[in-house]
Amino acid sequence: MTTFEPVIGLEVHAQLKTDTKIFCGCSTRFGGAPNAHTCPVCLGMPGVLPVLNKKVVEFTLRMALATHCTVQEVSRFARKNYFYPDLPKGYQISQYELPIALAGHVEIQVDGQTRRIGLTRIHMEEDAGKLLHDPTRPVSRVDLNRTGVPLMEIVSEPELRSPEEAGAYLRTLRAIIRWIDIGDGNMEEGSFRCDANVSLRPQGTTAFGTRAEIKNLNSFKHVEKALRYEIARQTEILLEGGSVVQETRLWDPDKAVTLSMRGKEDAHDYRYFPDPDLPPVIVDRAWIQAVTAQLPELPDQRRARFVRECQLPEYDAAILTGSRELADYFENCLKHFNQPKTVSNWIMGPLLGLLNSQEKSIEQSPIAVEGLVALLQLIDKGTISAKIAKTVFDEMAASGQTADAIIQARGLVQVSDTSAIEQAIDAVLAKAADEVARYKAGQTKLMGFFVGQVMKATQGKANPKIVNEILANKLNQG
Ligand code: ADP
Ligand code: MG
Ligand code: ZN
Repeated sequence: MTTFEPVIGLEVHAQLKTDTKIFCGCSTRFGGAPNAHTCPVCLGMPGVLPVLNKKVVEFTLRMALATHCTVQEVSRFARKNYFYPDLPKGYQISQYELPIALAGHVEIQVDGQTRRIGLTRIHMEEDAGKLLHDPTRPVSRVDLNRTGVPLMEIVSEPELRSPEEAGAYLRTLRAIIRWIDIGDGNMEEGSFRCDANVSLRPQGTTAFGTRAEIKNLNSFKHVEKALRYEIARQTEILLEGGSVVQETRLWDPDKAVTLSMRGKEDAHDYRYFPDPDLPPVIVDRAWIQAVTAQLPELPDQRRARFVRECQLPEYDAAILTGSRELADYFENCLKHFNQPKTVSNWIMGPLLGLLNSQEKSIEQSPIAVEGLVALLQLIDKGTISAKIAKTVFDEMAASGQTADAIIQARGLVQVSDTSAIEQAIDAVLAKAADEVARYKAGQTKLMGFFVGQVMKATQGKANPKIVNEILANKLNQG
């Protein structure tokens, strides 16, 4: 049976965090009474002229440079013509033939492998308005507050090969956008949107198959689910000897299916032409250099540095650079407790587990850097065992108390007093004459059993290193 390889390319629209719109001075603030943030320019009145917001260019430049694109010295705005009630001018101002940036790439991590995904282009454009459908009456209203809000469109090469890779790619783009502080990347609120193009081809072949473009994907989970559904649908068609129709399909999140929406429009349907109201955008070398100089250390660079300087596994480094705040948290811990792998384990395990379960970001962590560091120092000094430390950690998160206070209040200090441990060991060995005999007869694996019993008898408080030493002494005495 033929097996098929998915070919996926994504078009991402990210809203840029400017105070004002792309071609007028209206506020970009979300909410507000319908049409409160409008003026003759974004309402599309005749006879008014758009003026480009310089911040929009600067933010797009940041993204272009962070994703290794070639910035075009001259780029142009074009009119994309179509009719829809949320588009008062009858055209959207976008970039077409001459976008601001070409040919970049990002690196994604899937299953411990790093893959480079090419970016075809990045361009600037304006958002359209919003239709409000009245559920009680056959009436629709138009809110143009969003009209003219700046967007950056990022188009990937068709180089993604699975829904998981598509998900990883989107998360990577979002992480970069947040990292360089140009957008909030919130998919549920629509400030980060994605259309997914997907086709299949017989495994081992190179020609591309016919694609479908899926719209209405408003969460990461839905992107992956919709792609899985679409891949299954196309596979079935091809296996039955049919052919996939090139079209735009809509994801229905309730029914978890994609539905045919319309035939795929071609570029010529939009009658693109250069917008005569806007001069070309000129980005000179000095501007590129200035923006480059202001960029922070980027996620990829920081990930590589964590591997190099802290000897962290790639996997850890990738997770810890998931956001700038998380990477800062990790590095701030190291300032006081310089054992990178131990810190990494505690962040990736208990801390991220806690934050996930409470749906919090690292900035909202109930355990601050100082708190985690204090806990790690107590383990390091042997005051508490690593096992007990997890209990203390949970209690710190729940009560907000310090590790010290919890350990004192609950008497969790690790017992390193040899005579107390020796007593516990003697009691265990006395009750386990049978196991002792078998151990002496050569079943040395029973050591684990003895250690376990002693830890149980001391409620986990005995210092395991000392327990092992004394046990070994006693059992190997002949
Ligand atoms: P548009 O969808 O506006 O016509 P493009 O032709 O530039 O724009 O393609 C948009 C996206 O579709 C890109 O991300 C590209 O990688 C992807 N794409 C193009 N051809 C295919 C294909 N055969 N299978 C899957 N994705 C594709
Ligand atoms: Mg498209
Ligand atoms: Zn306006």
